[in-house]
Amino acid sequence: MDGRDATAAEATDDELLLFDDQPRADVTAAAQPWRVLVVDDDDQVHLVTRFALADVRYGGQGLLLLQARSAAQAREILSSDPAIALILLDVVMETDDAGLKLARWVREELGNRNVRIILRTGQPGQAPERQVILDYDINDYKSKAELTAQRLFTAVISSLRSYEQLLSIDSSRIGLEKILAATSWLYEKRSISQFVEGVILQIRALVGDAEGALMCTLADRGDVHSHSVRIIAGQAPFALEKGGTIGAQLSGPVCDSILTAMRTQQPQYEADRCVISFQTREYVASAVYLYGHKTLGPVERNLLEVFAANVAAGFDKVYLFEKLAHDAVHDRLTNLRSRASLVDAIDEAARTHREGGSPAALLVLDFDRFRDINDDLGYGGGDQFLALMAQRLLADLSPGEIAARLGGDAFAVLAPGISTQQAALAHAERLRRVLCAPAHITGREVIPSISIGAAFVGGDMRRAEEVLSDADATMDKAKRLGGGRTAMFDPVPPRPSLGRLSLVSDLSRAIHRNELRLHYQPIVSTKTRRVAGFEALIRWQHPERGLVPPNTFISVVESTGLIVPMGEWVLAEAARQVSDWHQRLPEAKDLFIGVNVSARQFVGNDLVSRVKRVLADTPVAAHHLKLEITESLIMEDPALAIEELKRLRELGIKLSLDDFGTGYSSLSYLHQFPIDTLKIDRSFVSAMLTRRETMVVMQSICSLARNLGMTIVAEGAETEAEVEALAELGCDFIQGFIFSRPVPAEEAEALVRAMAVT
Ligand code: C2E
Ligand code: MG
Ligand code: MG
Repeated sequence: MDGRDATAAEATDDELLLFDDQPRADVTAAAQPWRVLVVDDDDQVHLVTRFALADVRYGGQGLLLLQARSAAQAREILSSDPAIALILLDVVMETDDAGLKLARWVREELGNRNVRIILRTGQPGQAPERQVILDYDINDYKSKAELTAQRLFTAVISSLRSYEQLLSIDSSRIGLEKILAATSWLYEKRSISQFVEGVILQIRALVGDAEGALMCTLADRGDVHSHSVRIIAGQAPFALEKGGTIGAQLSGPVCDSILTAMRTQQPQYEADRCVISFQTREYVASAVYLYGHKTLGPVERNLLEVFAANVAAGFDKVYLFEKLAHDAVHDRLTNLRSRASLVDAIDEAARTHREGGSPAALLVLDFDRFRDINDDLGYGGGDQFLALMAQRLLADLSPGEIAARLGGDAFAVLAPGISTQQAALAHAERLRRVLCAPAHITGREVIPSISIGAAFVGGDMRRAEEVLSDADATMDKAKRLGGGRTAMFDPVPPRPSLGRLSLVSDLSRAIHRNELRLHYQPIVSTKTRRVAGFEALIRWQHPERGLVPPNTFISVVESTGLIVPMGEWVLAEAARQVSDWHQRLPEAKDLFIGVNVSARQFVGNDLVSRVKRVLADTPVAAHHLKLEITESLIMEDPALAIEELKRLRELGIKLSLDDFGTGYSSLSYLHQFPIDTLKIDRSFVSAMLTRRETMVVMQSICSLARNLGMTIVAEGAETEAEVEALAELGCDFIQGFIFSRPVPAEEAEALVRAMAVT
């Protein structure tokens, strides 16, 4: 640290900057002085240099001289300060060629290609070989006697100029890579809302993050005004109401710059904020960044505009996709869901019920004497009538409910969470009140009347079509009885098969009754094809329902807090199991074990002391334990999470980022997380061979992870072709059905014996 301390004493600038590990993408914009490192063992030279360069300015900025008195000290400073622009380097110091060695170290080991180097020696006879000058990209070589103040000035300015050029080339290249990765990632988004969130996320990354961002749009081609432009997405710190107008939610000056950007199609830049507009066929949208992105230099502005142009095309594509998807499941006339889409929803509701949710009610409604309406008002009038009824229905739907048009004048409503006959009938009456208010169609008043048939979804194994035809037949019955009434198909609603309540109480007993099991899925080294470790995955051996997979109960367990004791059990049991293997199986002594951790365990429940306790109670080495956490867990409160992760890491345990790519895909944040391993989500692995964009994203994820020194695990490989592609991409480990499904401990042990461990 001596070198750093010595430097700090010299520095006139805010020293905190030295610790900023981000390479400075655009020095001119950052308004920082140029950092020049003077390396010389002669104090006199330092003094003279300071004097000679005291008033030098380039590009509006002065110099900040850092000093090192030996090559060793210089190495320390260079390692911790990537923003040094120029080294004035004495050749002869500790040894005759200490300076040359340092130059080689800078280029070859430190890998810093940008910093400029001017060599200086005491005597003219010590000139280095030409080859050295070429190989180590030395800018200038002068004997100290030759270097008058004027010459030094000229050499320094020309070096700074070339440093600046190198930097801007570098940041364009990095920026373009980011854009490529970001756009292909974005193009996988299938809904406007996902796409928009993605655009904001990626733009934040491009400008090196901003404190807040929002996007707004003018959906139809009307005039651009503060009351016509609406906010469609906002990210912290904006707790903005989506769909609200900018006029109602933003301050006057902010509105003005958004409107200017949209009207002129010109980006608006201010010191720490900017507005970029996207011109698309279907949408005119703007993204606004407020507060705290650093001032953008010309390179960054340029990149941002390239990105915006790329994204604009994406908007139309996603919009079209969403529209097609919407049309496929919606009825044209009424904008209600189509029959086929309702059938899917009924199946889904039945599944939810089987997995412990409450039953749902299906109500089929048909307008009494619709034929008369058609006859009196004509088909056009009949259509208007249906469209109006659909509007009323949609306006009245509660969240989670679905309304569909079955054909003709028959509508249906699927209402989840209805578990008694009384509730179903009450719901039918509500629909009747909403729909049967007088309607005015082509100047005539119509008083609608409806017949309703209701059936329950769930309970038994009836298929959706059967439930639908039961409800339909019941509606017919209501109609035959004179119409204007409701009939029930099921005399008794289905009992909750395993309702949430009983699920919760069953689960809390499961721990004590010893019904929880861990299965182990091998994680195999790509190179050796041997088992390197396992992931512990929980199962619930339910007395009636058999082996229950985690996806059906983890969310319940998380929402009730039961996850804390359950997670503690998982951790202890997994540690016990792996330490048992370590002790008994010679081929298993290096096996690691991955354990999943949920958000609820993580924050406020002192995971650190729980892990400590497990390490104390079990003879397992800390580095054999890997906690798997997800991005969403970190992103809930990044600062807090990073602190907690660091504390965990201090215990010596390893950390994996699980399901990477499904959540925030925060490529740009990744370097801030203290993470050892990246687990790339199965969705990437299964798509990468068929979707070129996915492969591109995989490549960027892998190269980034490698650069950050992380180990890469790919999840969900099912074919040999995938394994080969993953090996090619440089994944270190693979976890997937191709090697084995998660299996009980005895079978896992057999796998270890069979495959042998690395
Ligand atoms: P995960 O942590 O991402 O675990 C990997 C999941 O992918 C496992 O599902 C595994 O069976 C599945 N998988 C692995 N390879 C393949 C493959 O080649 N093809 C396919 N189709 N699937 C594959 P599983 O065991 O059902 O676990 C699901 C999730 O439940 C886990 O995802 C994890 O998030 C959660 N979970 C499991 N055990 C625990 C636990 O003890 N605590 C917590 N908090 N969550 C757990
Ligand atoms: Mg996992
Ligand atoms: Mg995973």
